[in-house]
Amino acid sequence: MKYFDAHCHIQFDRFSEDRTEVIEKMQKEEFGGLVVGVDMASTRAAVELVQQYPHLWASVGLHPNDTPEEPFDREAFLRLAGDPKVVAIGECGLDNYRPEDPEQEKERQRRVFIQHVELALETDKPLMIHSRPKKGTMDAYHDLIEILGSYKKDYGEKLRGDIHFFVGGIEEAKAFVELGFTMSFTAVLTFARDYDEVVRYLPLESILSETDAPYVAPASRRGTRNDPFAVRDVVEAIAEIRGEDTEKVRSTILANAERVFGLSGL
Ligand SMILES: [Zn+2]
Repeated sequence: MKYFDAHCHIQFDRFSEDRTEVIEKMQKEEFGGLVVGVDMASTRAAVELVQQYPHLWASVGLHPNDTPEEPFDREAFLRLAGDPKVVAIGECGLDNYRPEDPEQEKERQRRVFIQHVELALETDKPLMIHSRPKKGTMDAYHDLIEILGSYKKDYGEKLRGDIHFFVGGIEEAKAFVELGFTMSFTAVLTFARDYDEVVRYLPLESILSETDAPYVAPASRRGTRNDPFAVRDVVEAIAEIRGEDTEKVRSTILANAERVFGLSGL
């Protein structure tokens, strides 16, 4: 395998017309991917989809605020997490982006997130975390660091995972590295310069590549539906920003995905 998309949603309806084509092309061009659930329906769809392909795996969870009315069905997620192709728990986390959200919503998110952390520990799988701070702050990351830090004390290396779509600064990146988490970046790196400093700061071993497809297409095809092939643009952008050899960056990031998700023979 050449590239690994650590976070995509190719089970979504946006791929209903050409899903098989995209997936077969991924296989031919040696792109692997983690298909991430955001609620029970999309989690089931992800788990079902990845059964058919050796280059795809699934993550099971409830997004912090995509479907706030959906309760977290712990037993059902636990059953799904038992599938050998399920290699992560999420996407889960804390999202403070909507300033109009009341305090109870923050508490609900925190409660549901903690259930995911416990599910990950119980099933010995890494977390796939979505966290978005309120504009102009790093609040959601600080809460996350506090929660993960308290579990780290008891569980050590068993607590692990990835911070998807990382938008934090050096301070937050340092804290997540200390917690043993990786951070993944999207094709935002191809059109915004806001993350160059943090991309240069991080040890290469702490970086994963992702697309969040169908969202965030790279600069070369902005505004269109994104797909997992953009993960190559992400890897190239990381190499360019860091001033490192593209091949070295590609192979290290691939090995990171293999390590974090416990995949073998990528
Ligand atoms: Zn996502």
